[in-house]
Amino acid sequence: MAFIFPPEAPVGVPVIGTSDRFAVRRVYCVGRNYVAHAREMGFDPDREPPFFFCKPADAIVPIDSGGTLELAYPSQTQNYHYEAELVAVIGKGGSDIAVEHALDHVWGYAVGLDMTRRDLQMKMREMGRPWEIGKAFDRSAPLGPIHPASAVGHLNSGAVWLTVNGVTKQKSDVSYLIWSVAETVADLSKYFGLEPGDVIYTGTPEGVGAVKAGDVIAVGVERLGELKVLVV
Ligand code: MN
Repeated sequence: MAFIFPPEAPVGVPVIGTSDRFAVRRVYCVGRNYVAHAREMGFDPDREPPFFFCKPADAIVPIDSGGTLELAYPSQTQNYHYEAELVAVIGKGGSDIAVEHALDHVWGYAVGLDMTRRDLQMKMREMGRPWEIGKAFDRSAPLGPIHPASAVGHLNSGAVWLTVNGVTKQKSDVSYLIWSVAETVADLSKYFGLEPGDVIYTGTPEGVGAVKAGDVIAVGVERLGELKVLVV
């Protein structure tokens, strides 16, 4: 048996302090998972529970620690937004996982950016159409090195921040997640069978906004360090 086209190797995200890589299987994202962000997007978080969407695995752009990622301004948008997010990665598969066991399935954590063509996302939202062109485009998911939970523990709290050219744009705390990491994993596993290699972007706090070529984004989560991205 031979493949008629050689398959791409999986995207490999560095594991901090090692030469190991975490092979990405699927990318899940949580929408509207911080109260203040749901409000800034025009929703009442008390009536609108968070929900899931996906990005392709090869939308992930791994960032090695210490470096600055150059990210090209994408096509077909005039409103290219950053979203700072805590990312949890799955190391043990399962379905219908109970909340109290959910963190046993989380292998580690990383800092991620859910880059968004906000104009296209909003247009699709208004038309009741899928979000893919606004959310799931090429290189839309920069992701920093993975910190094993065995080293940093599980993240139920900790600062989340994002600056553009040194000016603070997002400043929140993981403890403000509407659905915690454990609750998110448990709920997601009702709809999809989770497997090692799955990556979950847990949602962004308030303060999302646009960037343009030449801007430098710095994004961080307490205990996981900070990443730098230059938009070109
Ligand atoms: Mn997001």
